[in-house]
Amino acid sequence: MQPRPLDARALAALAANPGCGRRALLDGAGVDKNALATALGSPAAFGQSQFAIVRGNSFEAKVKGDGGAELLRLVHGHLDPAAEPPGAGARVPDLTAAGPEGRAARTALALREATATRDWTLLDHPMLALEVAGSPAYLEPDAVVVHPDGRWTVVEIKSFPMIDAAADAAKVGAAARQAAVYVLALERTAEKLAGAEVGHTVLLVCPKDFSNLPTAAPVDVRRERAVTRRQLERLTRVEELAAALPEGLTFDPERTAEELAEAVSAVDAAYAPECLAACELAFHCRERARAADEVTALGRSVRGELGALTTVEAALAAASGAGCAEDPTAAALHRAARLRAEALELAAARPRRHVPESPECPC
Ligand code: SF4
Repeated sequence: MQPRPLDARALAALAANPGCGRRALLDGAGVDKNALATALGSPAAFGQSQFAIVRGNSFEAKVKGDGGAELLRLVHGHLDPAAEPPGAGARVPDLTAAGPEGRAARTALALREATATRDWTLLDHPMLALEVAGSPAYLEPDAVVVHPDGRWTVVEIKSFPMIDAAADAAKVGAAARQAAVYVLALERTAEKLAGAEVGHTVLLVCPKDFSNLPTAAPVDVRRERAVTRRQLERLTRVEELAAALPEGLTFDPERTAEELAEAVSAVDAAYAPECLAACELAFHCRERARAADEVTALGRSVRGELGALTTVEAALAAASGAGCAEDPTAAALHRAARLRAEALELAAARPRRHVPESPECPC
């Protein structure tokens, strides 16, 4: 089976949970987590429907039609209104080449030429390279536009609507995290090129209201870029993770569910409810976290609050007063449980107020 390449969506999700060795190893090794989750008996429940993919592709084709005239007009209007408007002859270089390395080299060359000529240029589906935890990742943004002043802008085209100039905040956040990964990858290319600058404001293009007409909004991704950069730097190298694993370990989806569960459990995970929206193995990891009584299944904030109490059983024991007296978290839990019990006792002892029944009351 061909290794599955890392994409920006996977990197953004990886950066959102840098403590998970399981995801880092599986993504770094190119394992198809969707197939693995299905073979484990816990298939992923997220992803785009076929209908949404077709609709998204047709909207993107419309936005980029006519030599990218509409897309360049949106970039000019929203991000660079002081510049000369892109004329009919804006450049759209051919980026075809063999394999991802070839396409990345072709993209770097096109960026260099566009930055030197200072013409409005649209790079349609360029290929960007980024090294992540020792493994190369090839990323393909929807578009990159080169401005006449040498600035490069990432453009994300999404099929969710912008209604009254506002879109779903969660979807915009996910798009911003994805775009931040492209910005980081573009910066690697820009480092080697004098006069090039990567914009930290990307352009999000969506259908306007309930139509199929494109509209756009600038999105500042400085925060997402900084967070993603920090998280990607913290990711453990795949070789280090693999070195600690037993010889002959395999994640081949052809193996039985029991064999795969054993293989997966050999790599440490850091499950959190956020995984449900970002990782194909979420149902499997949640089931394991619950079976192991881990408090992390209740959320990262609960996990952070409970400190050394890593299981629900330990937390309940601390609340009942059987925890370690030296542990301030256990003492605080015990005090909180006592206060709760006292409040419930008081409430039970208070006489109940009689509420007369209304004659109109149907119940
Ligand atoms: S679902 Fe599992 S493998 Fe995926 S990020 Fe969460 S803990 Fe890691």
